[in-house]
Formats: sequence, structure tokens, C-alpha cells
Amino acid sequence: MISYGRHSINQDDIDAVTKVLRGNWLTTGPLVEQFEAKLETVVGAPTLVLSSGTAALHAAYAAIGIGPGDEVITPPITFVATQATAALLGARPVFVDVKPDFPNIDPTKVEAAITSKTKAIVAVDYAGHPADMDELRIIADKHKLFLIEDAAHSIGSSYKGRPVGSLADLTTFSFYPTKNITTGEGGAVSSSSPELLRRAREFSRQGLVRDPSRFKLHQDGPWHQEVHDFGLNYRLPDVLCALGLSQLKRIESFKYRRYEIYEWYNAQFSEIRSLTIPHHAEHVSPMWHLYPLRVNEDSRGELFALLQESEVKVQVNYFPAHLHPVFQKYGNKQGDFPNSEKFYRQEISLPIHAELTEKDLKMIAQLVLQFSKN
Ligand SMILES: *Cc1c(COP(=O)(O)O)cnc(C)c1O
Repeated sequence: MISYGRHSINQDDIDAVTKVLRGNWLTTGPLVEQFEAKLETVVGAPTLVLSSGTAALHAAYAAIGIGPGDEVITPPITFVATQATAALLGARPVFVDVKPDFPNIDPTKVEAAITSKTKAIVAVDYAGHPADMDELRIIADKHKLFLIEDAAHSIGSSYKGRPVGSLADLTTFSFYPTKNITTGEGGAVSSSSPELLRRAREFSRQGLVRDPSRFKLHQDGPWHQEVHDFGLNYRLPDVLCALGLSQLKRIESFKYRRYEIYEWYNAQFSEIRSLTIPHHAEHVSPMWHLYPLRVNEDSRGELFALLQESEVKVQVNYFPAHLHPVFQKYGNKQGDFPNSEKFYRQEISLPIHAELTEKDLKMIAQLVLQFSKN
């Protein structure tokens, strides 16, 4: 079975993990800081590692103090964790449609959705393609909002020469096995604001304050620590940081291979009238997490079934978040965000990852081409 996304694990990764298993720390030990320091060199801002991309979003929202009564602007074409973590803190997710040609949030539609309750604009770098961060930054600054980037797809990507991770007030990453690098489960938050990163860190460490200069109570002894705000346990263990550190050594080769596959598919499909290939803006260098091909919406289901029968496990990313039943209570309904809904009806994610062989690629392209020419 060929999957739309999968991890790439080599002997170095295995050795790195087993070395930790023989050592003194399984969870928080020296590799946490090492992984964070290495990530900083990739994403261009200080970074906190966490147990998942969902945890990273939750901690980022907690860091900016999201709570009941707040509104958070998000695009519908994303994994629902982007909204769920804000909603669980009491905020109302507000949707803004994606652009017609690429399913990243449409900056020209954001201002109309801003109210006195809006606290943050959240961009999602769909498929690894950075959102329009400069345009969003201007809007965020004008209305004094936080700008958050859900970069679960886009570690390794850059925008106008700047790495994803250095663009928003807070950027969140995921290291789930299908993502660009993996720790099994894992995630991270980056921010150039020490204050925001400290708040995210405390939230992910049960809210514990250990810095004596911030204590509000008398210190009975060296064991003293105190809680100012509630938090959760979102730590990433040393065992998984070892895997992450080892994976980071290959991030450039993963990016190169993903780009090669992207270009190869483009060359196969660009002349076929019923197919629309994903283009990227000239000012970005994406690390392609997905290859989102757009096909005729009447035949998407059939193509999906054909590939599945041929042992090619494709995917559709994503069912528009505002159509999940959970959002009915906010009044969201079919037809609200036409670009997102149209994209969803046409999209099919073809396999793209470092473990694909030339033979796999030829087989996949042949199936798609034969189907599209009929
Ligand atoms: C994968 C993903 C997440 C959640 O990450 P996990 O590590 O699976 O918790 C959040 N947002 C987007 C866009 C994702 O693709």
C-alpha cells in the first residue's frame, strides 16, 4: 500500500532513540533543550517543543490569553484542531473563506470579519505553502490583533526568504508521522516574544512557576513552586526529542525530495484540461506536505475509489471545518464559504513523501492520467 503521507525512519533515527532508552531520562532531560535549540535554527525563532500540534495550538491560544467572549479568525480548509483548541478555551471560531486559487485564508476578506471581540487571526499554511503573512500582518497590526500561524504542514518552508516560524507572533508545528518531520506524536510553538513563549511553556507544564523572581508567595524552601494559571501536561519526552533531532538532520533532503515529486507530478498533469495542479507563489519556497490535485468534482469520488483499489491510499484534505456538526451551534452552514467548499469537492491528495520510489510515482501518475483522459 502506498500512502499519501508517511514517515521516513532510518538506522540513525533508531540508534538515536535506543540510546535514550539506555540512558537516565525518558522524559524531560537534556535532549528537550537540544531539540528546541536545533529547531530554532530551522524556524528562525525560539521554540518550545510539545506533545502534539494540537497541544501547540492550545498552548499558543492560552499564551495570548484566549477566553470566553473572544473571537478567533480561521480558514475552513484545515484540520479542525485549529478551531477546537480555541473553542475549548471558550472562544468563538469565526471563519473567513480561502482564496479561489489556493486554499490559504484570503487576506482581502479578513477585515470584514473583525469585531470588537476579535483577538487573533490564525493562518494555516495549507500543504506547506505559507499564507500571505505580510498582508495579514498589516491587518493584525492595524486592529491590534495577534497573528498566529498554524504551520503543521510547513516546517522547512520559507516566505520572502524568511523561515516559517519567524513570521507570526506565534507559530505552531506538528510532528505527526505524515508531516514533514516526525517524532511519532509531537509538536512545537515558536515565538520571538519571550513573554508569549514563557506563557506557552507554563501552560504546557501544569502552570507551574519556578522562577523565584515571579513568586507571589513566601518561599518556604528550595522546593517551592506555585501556580498562577492552570495548565496541562503537554511535555515532549526525551525519547521523542532524540527522534526529532535525528530527523532534523535530514530536513533539507526531505524538502528537496518533496519538491522533486511536486515538480514531477506537475509535469505529468499540467497539460490535462480536467486537472488543476497546485501552483506556488514566486515569493515562497514550500516544503510540500501534500500534493493537492484538483479534479472535476463529479469524478473525484470515482478517482479516489480507483486509486484506493490500486493500493494507493489517497486522502481528501479537508472537509471544510465550518460544516462539522459541532459548528451548527454557531450558525455556520453549507454555502457560507464557497471557495472552501468548492476546493473540498475537487481536491485529492496524491502521495508525496521521501519513501516513494520512481516506480510508485509512475504507477500513480498512470492511473490518474488514464482516468482523466477517459
Ligand atoms: C496535523 C495538524 C494539526 C494537529 O497536529 P497533531 O500533531 O496531529 O495534533 C493541526 N493543524 C493542522 C493544519 C494539521 O494538519
